[in-house]
Amino acid sequence: HPGGMSEVTAVPTHCPYCALQCGMSLRPTGAPELPAEVVDRTDFPVNRGALCGKGRTAPAVLSSRVRLTGPLVRRPDTGALEPASWEEALAAVADGLRRTRADHGPDAVGVFGGGGLTNEKAYTLGKFARLVLGTSQIDYNGRFCMSSAAAAHGRAFGLDRGLPFPLEDIPKTGCVILVGSNLAETMPPALRYLTELKENGGKLIVVDPRRTRTAEHADLHLAPRPGTDLALALGLLHLVVAEGRVDEEFVRERTTGWEAARAGAMSHWPEQVERITGVPVPLLREAVALFGDAATGMVLTARGPEQQSKGTDTVGAWINLCLATGKAGRPLSGYGCLTGQGNGQGGREHGQKADQLPGYRKLDDPAARAHVAGVWGVPPESLPGPGRSAYELLDALGGDVKALLLMGSNPVVSAPRAAHVEGRLRSLDFLAVADVVLSETAALADVVLPVTQWAEETGTMTNLEGRVLLRRRALTPPPGVRSDLEVLHALAGLLGWEKGFSADPEEVFEELRRASAGGPADYAGISYRRIEEEQGVFWPCPETGPGEPEHAGTPRLFLDRFATPDGRARFVPVVHRAAAEETDAEYPVVLTTGRVVSQYQSGAQTRRVEELNAAAPGPFVELHPRLAERLGVAEGEELAVVSRRGRAVAPARITAAIRPDTVFMPFHWAGEGRANTLVNPALDPISRMPEFKVCAVRLEPLSTG
Ligand code: SF4
Repeated sequence: HPGGMSEVTAVPTHCPYCALQCGMSLRPTGAPELPAEVVDRTDFPVNRGALCGKGRTAPAVLSSRVRLTGPLVRRPDTGALEPASWEEALAAVADGLRRTRADHGPDAVGVFGGGGLTNEKAYTLGKFARLVLGTSQIDYNGRFCMSSAAAAHGRAFGLDRGLPFPLEDIPKTGCVILVGSNLAETMPPALRYLTELKENGGKLIVVDPRRTRTAEHADLHLAPRPGTDLALALGLLHLVVAEGRVDEEFVRERTTGWEAARAGAMSHWPEQVERITGVPVPLLREAVALFGDAATGMVLTARGPEQQSKGTDTVGAWINLCLATGKAGRPLSGYGCLTGQGNGQGGREHGQKADQLPGYRKLDDPAARAHVAGVWGVPPESLPGPGRSAYELLDALGGDVKALLLMGSNPVVSAPRAAHVEGRLRSLDFLAVADVVLSETAALADVVLPVTQWAEETGTMTNLEGRVLLRRRALTPPPGVRSDLEVLHALAGLLGWEKGFSADPEEVFEELRRASAGGPADYAGISYRRIEEEQGVFWPCPETGPGEPEHAGTPRLFLDRFATPDGRARFVPVVHRAAAEETDAEYPVVLTTGRVVSQYQSGAQTRRVEELNAAAPGPFVELHPRLAERLGVAEGEELAVVSRRGRAVAPARITAAIRPDTVFMPFHWAGEGRANTLVNPALDPISRMPEFKVCAVRLEPLSTG
């Protein structure tokens, strides 16, 4: 790094956490306790210098105090994880994977990736699974994130990109319906897009069973019972039709399938929708007036509608509302998904998903297989077919999947029915985990490989807008760690693949460009140079011919045509159905789960940051005063939450901001307060998303007094 006597230069890069991928600069300090400090970076348009507490304190995880600094191997004599050399640890992983494959066949080896991995890592991990291991059994934790929105997006528009427009368009639209997103806590710098919307005279409708910090900014807050927002969207569409607010010309010119969707909505009467959702009809009418009167509008969803066993149809119902009112495929209008994980978008495009090849191609498409196999220099028939989805893969561990290589994920905390998943992980013949800290999942492994962190490596991420951006290396990693790419390069070599697995991120990106060329997520015209010069490039960005100007990238999709074969958006008829598990006399309360502002996902990183832990030290059960009174529970008293999957204990937090029939738990913690122990793994039939957002529980106060 430049330095010496003069001031050390700060390196512009991006936050390690969520899908906003806020720009920040890092200045190396040379101190092992805190090797870098965050310096303002105001040039990146998404956050213009603003960071939340998680981003601001991210360098703390670089400290040698909290991270892994050398490989660990479990010793057969003691059963404990003990320090080992890299040579020994890599040989043990190669041996474990090779042995399982030889004894039980390639599909006995599973691979589990993460939505926080860079595009280069996600690409290499998918290639490693399919070529080196020859297994179909690969999926990743992004399946638990936005997969329902991705499925609905693809179904309606022929292409899935989280936001089909840049964030900067949000304040200029007329009305935003924000469904199941608490962005004031999950991505605080994004809140300004909504406050600016309101300053510009736009309206904000928030749909959430809780009056969250985000809902406090709403002109109208609708609080449906968890798992009923599909009915809510149908009720709104019913009123749009009944009140003559359908954009007939748009429906005729730009869509197909309206009649069936219309019929589906008309069978959901507002009074019936009120009974299902608990949202009064006058509020439904108010929402329709706000959205319908606005010349432009957007519906933005997050995990609320998506993490349901009918998540794809729920998102589809909101898309139908956009299409019927002509609020899609036009400037300042459309449906978008606010992706959660740092590379939630790119992570699903490059081949670590069970059914995808790089470029967001379908694994069962012969042309896609031929293209990617050509780039990889192998015959198409050598590529395995689609594998199991994330929960199904985790559920198969110890059964026909006997060894697992896991990168960048902590399913012991983040998977549904977490105690069961933990048991499946324990039952494996062999588990190798690459991570930056000894997460709860890494602690179960036979071999733990310590890897570099965001500030110590270069790689691209694709944020929630579809903007491909570059995280730059700002620090030299400590000597005991290696990058995930170096790990895969070394393992491929040990397993007989001397070539084809570069450890250099830019070389991998060059290959990824070729593999993605011509696919839905076309990165062929993007380069590290362009990303640096242009503050990111939006895909699709095809390569142009010699002498032609470079493709500008595509910040806004669908303005002329949708990505379907006929260019029209597809209405998909949907009907309301109940959650997979309804409340009953034994389990009379609805549990919904989510995040708090000072922790991130499974907490593997943020629970190791003192300042964040002080702000959010542990789980809690949020419940309404009426429910608390009925149970005889006081603020702060320990409460057991029991579902058919198990039990979690946490203190009560009493607030009128939640529905009286619902409790909320954040899911960032392990141990007895682990919320995901309770969650029902019922899967959406299309996206294979588990039902994180609704299950039935009973509450047992633990106080004796
Ligand atoms: Fe990082 Fe997301 Fe916070 Fe921005 S909003 S600083 S990307 S965690």
